[in-house]
Amino acid sequence: MSSLAKNYNRKKISFTKGNGSFLYSTNGKKYLDFVQGIAVNSLGHANPHLIKAINKQAKKLWHVSNAFIIPEGEKLARRLTQKTFADSVIFQNSGAEATEAAIKVARRYFYSVGQPKKNRILCVKNSFHGRTLATIYASGSKKMTEGFGPKVDGFDHFQFGDHKALKKSITNRTAAIMVETIMGEGGIKVIPDWCLKEMRKICNQRKILLILDEVQCGIGRSGNFFAFENSKIKPDIVPIAKGIGGGFPLGAVLMNKKVASGMTAGTHGSTFGGNPLAMSVGNAVLDQIFKKGFLKNVQILSKYLHSELNKIKKEFPKIIKEVRGVGFLIGLQLFTDQKKFIQKLMDNHLLTIRAAENVVRILPPLTVKKKEIDLSIKIIRKVCSNYK
Ligand SMILES: *Cc1c(COP(=O)(O)O)cnc(C)c1O
Repeated sequence: MSSLAKNYNRKKISFTKGNGSFLYSTNGKKYLDFVQGIAVNSLGHANPHLIKAINKQAKKLWHVSNAFIIPEGEKLARRLTQKTFADSVIFQNSGAEATEAAIKVARRYFYSVGQPKKNRILCVKNSFHGRTLATIYASGSKKMTEGFGPKVDGFDHFQFGDHKALKKSITNRTAAIMVETIMGEGGIKVIPDWCLKEMRKICNQRKILLILDEVQCGIGRSGNFFAFENSKIKPDIVPIAKGIGGGFPLGAVLMNKKVASGMTAGTHGSTFGGNPLAMSVGNAVLDQIFKKGFLKNVQILSKYLHSELNKIKKEFPKIIKEVRGVGFLIGLQLFTDQKKFIQKLMDNHLLTIRAAENVVRILPPLTVKKKEIDLSIKIIRKVCSNYK
């Protein structure tokens, strides 16, 4: 009997070690891991550069309070701002904290410019922004909020893709639109570039802020550092987490100068957020992702994986409905419930994970090798061939 609460529906398997794209189970089997902690281990398991960085920092200094200057955090924030739209950063420990901080930054901005009633956030119905009280109500999901009342107010919703509803839902109380650039849990649904551009335009016209939740799709997963980059727009606020820590709990909210002005001393804080250990790991992750050619390689290999998956879709048009996603954030949408399919993949030593709308999520590490992609394709094709 487990002493853990039953809030997860766990598969009956555990692992002793990982190496790059592979996981080794306690019963001695080797699995190709295309879950990677749900887009967390961006550089795969047991990455030598990350191991070195965390060991080096662990011997020096783990934690000091944010009451003091933390040079490793100064460095990570500087690198994140030099390479992106952002002018400043607040570090957190997780995605939900980062999105919740994004909401606080948006509200605080309007408060600081004398418009405190402009405090509502417009979100996509059935999106995912985390599991804190505020972020579950931001999701507009009945399933996630059920039993957790009273409702946290301040969120309005529109259906994904419904521009008319989006425009109509904006009131003089709206502070920001908050969307995932690519919906992860919601089924790997990509907001097209023209749509991001349109959203930016609407935000400018209505003088509201644009928050793009890149917790899952950011940090190179799309083939660009941020998934919104191809659209050429600049958001105001971007929460990140998952991939930036490479497996170490780390989140952050990135923001432009305008909105950062509201976050004066004492307005927000976190005991653990931005501690030297986390910051050193974050810097080590960026060492790799910012390396010349790293993201180009993600683009090339992910294109290859998409094209191979599309071939399988053509071969099995009754099983696979659609190949979704960008870069290494991929969704294989099936015609029927995906649970059995995921189990069959696992029986054949390939780990994947579900998302909404019958989607099988395929999330290789960004360091995946071509021969590992070929192995995954072989397994997926085999499972399709025997699928009933
Ligand atoms: C995972 C995720 C979160 C929440 O991150 P946690 O670290 O689980 O709190 C928020 N937004 C998106 C888009 C996510 O995918």
